[in-house]
Amino acid sequence: MNSEQFREEAHKMVDWMADYLEHVEEYPVRAQVKPGETMKQIPKEAPVQAEDFEDIFKDFKEIIMPGMTHWESPKFMAYFPANKSYPSILGEMLTATLGAQCMSWITSPAATELEEAVMGWLGSMTGIPDHFSGVIQDTASTATLTALLMAREKVSGFEINEQGFEAGNEYTVYCSSETHSSIEKDVKIAGFGKNNLRKIAYDDSYAMRPEKLEEAIRKDLENGLKPACVIATIGTTGSTAIDPLREIADICNRYEVFLHVDAAFAGTAMILPELRWMIEGIERVDSYVFNPHKWMFTNFDCSAFYVKDEAQLVKTFEITPEYLKTPEDERVKNYRDWGIPLGRRFRALKLWFVIRNFGIEGLRNKIRKHLELAEKQKAVIEQDPDFELLAPVPLNTICFRYHPSYIDDDNKLNELNSILLEHINDSGKLFITHTKLNGRFTLRMVIGNTNVEQRHVDEAWSLIKEKSSKLI
Ligand SMILES: *Cc1c(COP(=O)(O)O)cnc(C)c1O
Repeated sequence: MNSEQFREEAHKMVDWMADYLEHVEEYPVRAQVKPGETMKQIPKEAPVQAEDFEDIFKDFKEIIMPGMTHWESPKFMAYFPANKSYPSILGEMLTATLGAQCMSWITSPAATELEEAVMGWLGSMTGIPDHFSGVIQDTASTATLTALLMAREKVSGFEINEQGFEAGNEYTVYCSSETHSSIEKDVKIAGFGKNNLRKIAYDDSYAMRPEKLEEAIRKDLENGLKPACVIATIGTTGSTAIDPLREIADICNRYEVFLHVDAAFAGTAMILPELRWMIEGIERVDSYVFNPHKWMFTNFDCSAFYVKDEAQLVKTFEITPEYLKTPEDERVKNYRDWGIPLGRRFRALKLWFVIRNFGIEGLRNKIRKHLELAEKQKAVIEQDPDFELLAPVPLNTICFRYHPSYIDDDNKLNELNSILLEHINDSGKLFITHTKLNGRFTLRMVIGNTNVEQRHVDEAWSLIKEKSSKLI
């Protein structure tokens, strides 16, 4: 492909992209293909001779598109959203075009300095205290691993970086039993061992019980173990439960345990001052992560990671081989030392575009609208005799199940709701997912897509009602 052809194809593609986004809700929202269906259409061997871009793009439309789930559809109410917006897509296009690898200041000074500036904006927009420093990571899973490694080095006086785990597995980590699966994965990777992860009991709202946390820390101390890190979740993945941060911070401060906060999804809602109670105590935590790539209209990947002690973070990760040394090192930030990978994409650009093009007010309006839609839908479910809510709705995630009055057996209800879920998703008209809360099969409906409107929620509810009425 030469420059002329690139120009022509790129223009055509932008038209395709705009058409796609305009019509995204007409596609079956969850891909309707069977396992292996895409693979069998792709040749076993790579082409030896060059192929025309036109043919390649035709195959993209015919082979790939049917196997795509449409995350940007307003009928996508599954998992948590990974929503996006026009300015974000444009930012990604420029990032791809510049193709810069932003590991050090010198490899693109503007990328480093924009990242620092935009993380400052984002922090003050979402209630992060000024004395925290921010860096963009790929995912919350990576950010939490980064936090665990910081905690590990802090508690061991940076000995594990030097010697490895010497005296056996004596360090412990704490989270609630409703925390995200990435925490267990990160605990394993960081070398703590799954058996040293204490899953603390939750209360009626699925939030961590702080008195149980303190009990667990005490018990471990009595047994000669070393509590290294507590992970509090603001907005659990199952039901968006809010762990009581202030009380957890009190305990962590009292026992001098590193406190990391996982607000991967809910963090975006902190742009609303009326919701900041959720992170009361934030000034006393050690690190905090949330994902603009979930609910802040910014393409995956973009995870905002904040730490109170920048020096401690850098000390955990810094390695400067001769070939990476530069004369500016003393005066600039080299973000390669702020996390795990060396190479870094220029992610700050799309975030800058989004924040500027929406404005704080524009972002707030969107988030408030999602919360209002969820509040109304919650009331609809509450009033329906055949359905019941299974968790509080502090944000925009509604946990519920079909529960007709003539069935009381939990096993039967679990089976019925899992069949209902399949019927809903097979229709292609809506995509929702499930979780288990206290052993009960729970349908989750998340209202957070960029362009979701009342009519999408109404249509979703009609479909759920229709499919449930046909079950028995
Ligand atoms: C989504 C989510 C994660 C994982 O996020 P990634 O960026 O995909 O790693 C972690 N914690 C919570 C609470 C989440 O909702």
